[in-house]
Amino acid sequence: HKQGRAALVTGGTSGIGLAIAQRLAQDGLRVAVLDLDRPQAREVARAHGLAFVGADLSRREDCRRAVDEAVAALGGLDVLVNNAGFQHIDPIAEFPEDTWDAMLHVMLTAPFLLSKYAWPHLTRSGQGRIVNVASIHGHVASPFKSAYISAKHGLIGLTRTAALEAGEQGLTVNAICPGYVRTPLVEGQIADQARTRGLTVQEVEQKVMLEPAAIKRLLDPEDVAALASYVVSPAAWGMTGAVLDLDLGWTAR
Ligand code: NAD
Repeated sequence: HKQGRAALVTGGTSGIGLAIAQRLAQDGLRVAVLDLDRPQAREVARAHGLAFVGADLSRREDCRRAVDEAVAALGGLDVLVNNAGFQHIDPIAEFPEDTWDAMLHVMLTAPFLLSKYAWPHLTRSGQGRIVNVASIHGHVASPFKSAYISAKHGLIGLTRTAALEAGEQGLTVNAICPGYVRTPLVEGQIADQARTRGLTVQEVEQKVMLEPAAIKRLLDPEDVAALASYVVSPAAWGMTGAVLDLDLGWTAR
C-alpha cells in the first residue's frame, strides 16, 4: 500500500498545519496529522480524510510514539512538517517558568526529537523533506514574546544544522517564516490587543499587527501551504538549509 510519499504534519488540525496537510494530500501524498488528542481534533482529521496521531509534543515519550504511529498508519514516512506551536505574552519579569518550558519543548525540542526519531525513514526515502514552520519572529523580536521568539530563533539554527547533516542522503531541511497569518492563534491575539489597547479589530490589524509590513493584508494559511508544497515537491531537491520568508515585506526594512 506504499504509493506516493507519506507526510506527518504536527499541529495539523488547525490553521497553517491543516492547510499544509490538505495541500499535501491534494499533491498526492498520504498525510497524517498530529495534534493534542481531543475529540474535536480527531473530528477535523476525519472530516478531511487525514490519519490522526494524538500526541502532546511537550512530552518526550509522546514524540517517540507519534513517529511510530505515523509510520504504522502510513506505511513509511518521507516528509515531516514541524508546525505545532502556541503563543504566550508576558514581560520577562512575569513570564511563567512552566510556560517557558512547555513552549521551548513544543516548538524547539519536539522538532529535534521528531527529526531524530524519523531520521531513518526520511533518509531511506530518497526524497525526504523536513519543513520547519518558524516565523518572522525567528529573525526579529517583539516585546513580551520571549519564549516564542527564542524557540523560533532556535528552530532556524536546528534547520541549518539538520540540512548540513542530511545533505548526502536526499533529505532537505528548510524553514518557512511567515508574517501574520489569519488563524485561530492570530485571531485570538487581535481580540486581546483590541481589548487591552481600546482599539477596534480593524485598527489592531492595520496599525499594530501590520505596522511594519509593506503589504497591509494578513496572509491566509493557504499562502503558507503553497510555499510548503513547493519545498516538499521533488523539484525543490536543491533547496536545503534555506530560511524562506513570507512576511509581507516586514524584514525588508
Ligand atoms: P493554531 O493555533 O491555529 O494551530 C496550532 C496547532 O498546534 C493547534 O492545532 C494546536 O492544538 C497544536 N499544538 C499546540 N500545542 C501542542 C502540543 N503540545 N502538542 C501537539 N500539538 C500542539 O496556530 P497557527 O497560527 O496555525 O500556527 C501554526 C504554526 O505557525 C506555529 O508554529 C506558529 O508559531 C507558526 N506561525 C504562525 C503565524 C501566524 O500568524 N498565525 C505566523 C508565523 C508563524
